[in-house]
Amino acid sequence: MKRAIWILGDQLGPDNAALTGARKKDDVLFFVESERGLRKLKYHQQRLVLLLSAQRHFAEEMRKAGWTVDYHALGRGVTWESALAAHIKRHKPERILLTQPNNYDEQVAVEKLAKKFPLEIIPTRQFLVPRQEFIAWAKGKKSLLMETHYRRVRAEFGFLMEADGQPVGGRWNFDEENRKTFRDWVKAGRPQVEVSPVKPDKITREVIALVAKEFADHPGKADGFWLPVDRVGALRWLDDFIATRLAGFGPWEDLMVEGEELLFHSVISPLINLGLLTPRECIERAIAAYDKGKAPLASVEGFVRQIAGWREFVNGVYWLKMPDYEEVNGLDARRALPGFFYSGETGMNCLRQCINQVLATGFNHHIQRLMVLGNFLLLAGVKPQEALRWYLEMYVDAHDWVMAANVLGMVLHADGGFMATKPYAAGSGYISRMSNYCDGCRYKPAVKTGPEACPFNYLYWDFYARHEKRFARNPRVGMALKTLAKKTPAERKAIADSAREFLETVTSGA
Ligand SMILES: Cc1cc2nc3c(=O)[nH]c(=O)nc-3n(C[C@H](O)[C@H](O)[C@H](O)COP(=O)(O)OP(=O)(O)OC[C@H]3O[C@@H](n4cnc5c(N)ncnc54)[C@H](O)[C@@H]3O)c2cc1C
Ligand code: SF4
Repeated sequence: MKRAIWILGDQLGPDNAALTGARKKDDVLFFVESERGLRKLKYHQQRLVLLLSAQRHFAEEMRKAGWTVDYHALGRGVTWESALAAHIKRHKPERILLTQPNNYDEQVAVEKLAKKFPLEIIPTRQFLVPRQEFIAWAKGKKSLLMETHYRRVRAEFGFLMEADGQPVGGRWNFDEENRKTFRDWVKAGRPQVEVSPVKPDKITREVIALVAKEFADHPGKADGFWLPVDRVGALRWLDDFIATRLAGFGPWEDLMVEGEELLFHSVISPLINLGLLTPRECIERAIAAYDKGKAPLASVEGFVRQIAGWREFVNGVYWLKMPDYEEVNGLDARRALPGFFYSGETGMNCLRQCINQVLATGFNHHIQRLMVLGNFLLLAGVKPQEALRWYLEMYVDAHDWVMAANVLGMVLHADGGFMATKPYAAGSGYISRMSNYCDGCRYKPAVKTGPEACPFNYLYWDFYARHEKRFARNPRVGMALKTLAKKTPAERKAIADSAREFLETVTSGA
């Protein structure tokens, strides 16, 4: 029987279930570069280079391996539907197999197409925890604890587990050993490891030229693209991280240093999210490094937690809560996104560094996304959907399924605390402890209100003053509310005035 195997742009690897049992002799691999998908938002040029180049590389590898490939390249009006119709006319497949899309709107689109074309949708294997299993676990719970989910996954897969069911090292969590400060880093002699960018090959160079021309008005520059785009390159990238940076991952996980972009992070999210790496192999290779004594348990557990814990958790929350999730606004935030998120032109050095970095590379590490950019958006009361759009546009690893819970749940607390029991709100103390950003800033972290003060200081208290009633019964923010309650009316007024004046200069409110 003649079949088509439809391979979506983020299913480019060994975990693609639709490829299981496929036969070179009868089956045709079908790929589409959908103009609509690539222009849905103003995506960063480097994200577009990654998506297009990785898909073209995968198609080329399969062609070289003897498969028949029907590839529909980007062109005016190329959509999934038009390409499917052209494919059917030419190849006349009796069945078209594809793996479940990873994003909700794609799932809806594919289900609609299945009414017209002979599509068979196969459950995805790109995650450790199947969607329905997570939904069954979460059903009926008012809020979810990542930690509970993480321990379940570790026990089920035996990741860092002893034979008697106890976690290796006697603890599930080594946060105390991790998260060293900027001062610790200086004391340790400023350890760092050079990460070499990947040199673009012919396919990538063609894609860079295409993106620079067709998406010239999108943020970032296609030139300077630096990531792997195929399986071989992705495995090399992973192995380089494990050999050179995994040991330092735990202690320096939250560190931010001006001019040092990647530090000890893996930067595997752009690759794992396209299927070029599997979550299981990333975890297993890190555990093997621990077994061989090449990385300490605290670092390896921290890394395993990110993938088996957080990554699976945000995917589970997404499929549990969509389609309504992307509309949540639990804190009733209405402010427009400040224009400097697209230019980097702000006097706040921490924001300027992170925004300029993402404009140049399409990447920030987790703490920059959460505790600098996210913290500002939360405290300033920026509308969740505007913040979500910005994150989706800017990052090379951005996909709806991973952004939604991270931005709306973790960063903005817009889901009413469903996935994070307290807002990740912080004043300047956190940033000045974990980075050297404040050294180059026109604002002063030690000053609390007025034109010289670090805006995070008064925005933090203004945030809790605005939401005092809402959080009154949340024990996890009890300390902050108690301190707020001790502030005099004059202090409260100075906070509110500073916050209002500052926000009026950077954003327009609705
Ligand atoms: C506001 C915000 C937006 C984010 N947007 C994305 C996104 O679009 N795509 C994305 O893959 N991750 C996103 N994350 C999660 C995390 O910041 C990135 O996965 C991480 O920074 C990628 O860098 P890395 O590969 O060096 O990660 P490492 O720090 O080396 O961690 C290893 C891996 O763990 C996984 N991981 C860690 N934390 C998370 C998390 N919170 N959610 C999902 N996976 C996680 C990733 O696959 C990551 O590659 C976001 C987090 C925040 C707070
Ligand atoms: S002083 Fe405030 S605004 Fe400036 S870098 Fe430090 S935390 Fe950021």
